[in-house]
Amino acid sequence: MPPKSMALHKGLGFNPGTAKYLPRARIRSGQRVRITRRLGSKKAIYNFARKNRPAYRVADGETVLVETGDCFSGLARSESDLFEDIAMGDVNPATGPISVEGMRAGEVLCVEVKRIKCGKRGVVMCSPELGILSSEVRRSRTRIVTIRGTRAKFSKDLEIVLRPHIGVVGVSPRKGEFPTFHPGDHGGNLDTVEVRERSKLYLPTFVDGAMVALGDVHAAMGDGEVCGTGIEVPAEVTVRLSKAHEMALARPMIETPTEWISYAAAKTLDQAAKLATQDMVRFISHSRGCDFEEAYMLASVAADLKISQVVDPLMAARMSISKRYL
Ligand code: CA
Ligand code: CA
Repeated sequence: MPPKSMALHKGLGFNPGTAKYLPRARIRSGQRVRITRRLGSKKAIYNFARKNRPAYRVADGETVLVETGDCFSGLARSESDLFEDIAMGDVNPATGPISVEGMRAGEVLCVEVKRIKCGKRGVVMCSPELGILSSEVRRSRTRIVTIRGTRAKFSKDLEIVLRPHIGVVGVSPRKGEFPTFHPGDHGGNLDTVEVRERSKLYLPTFVDGAMVALGDVHAAMGDGEVCGTGIEVPAEVTVRLSKAHEMALARPMIETPTEWISYAAAKTLDQAAKLATQDMVRFISHSRGCDFEEAYMLASVAADLKISQVVDPLMAARMSISKRYL
């Protein structure tokens, strides 16, 4: 066990004196999933707010199918609809909020992603108002992309292999409100490619019921999301929502079948990278029961620090480590 002073940190880790780490995911491809209900996308929010009231209520451990609209609320109907034509208030509808029965503020919510079924039509946009190279964009452009099977037709001679993931998953924040295009400790606009099928996203919660909402599915997106969009699609997302026992978190964390991933959003990429690294080193220290220096060296030789996105109001970084080292 780690020394007491390590166990009492405020960041990522587990409650002192309890389990060292969670059991491995037991998701297998091709498994049958029992869905209890379909939650329609008409009930959606554009702000994660402490004052939000539930649109839906589910039991702890229930698996539901959540319909999500695309990030432009379906307003990009053709390639002549440009980013400037869409109000920021219409960006990133997140279906919900969904209250999870029995969840108390301060506990950790587990969002297990069972299935992501993308719509047949995706949207990609670039604009002088969007992305890391915005000043170099001379004119806005919208690309409507057809999706067939596991590929999207990006242009006449180029198909992109789909890597579907959920861009926005969040809960009501500690205080105030954040637009759904804002990432933060409450989750929100995570834009992180590992929030995909067979992954579990863990979120700290700040109100009873968690009030989780999700949307902004990308059929594909590269790390960084440099021009500001992925292949933006409506989708049907099957998730199991449950309380994660014996876990304490300050920020979101992701578990894939093979890795654990810390995540942090901050004003600069430097700050986000530092927070994600701190969280990972603490996580390693708890999981392995070793001191800071040992965990720090292990992170340096075995964990990967990556950029999630550089285009949202806060920058986001993450750090992943293979489960074999924990
Ligand atoms: Ca997004
Ligand atoms: Ca998006």
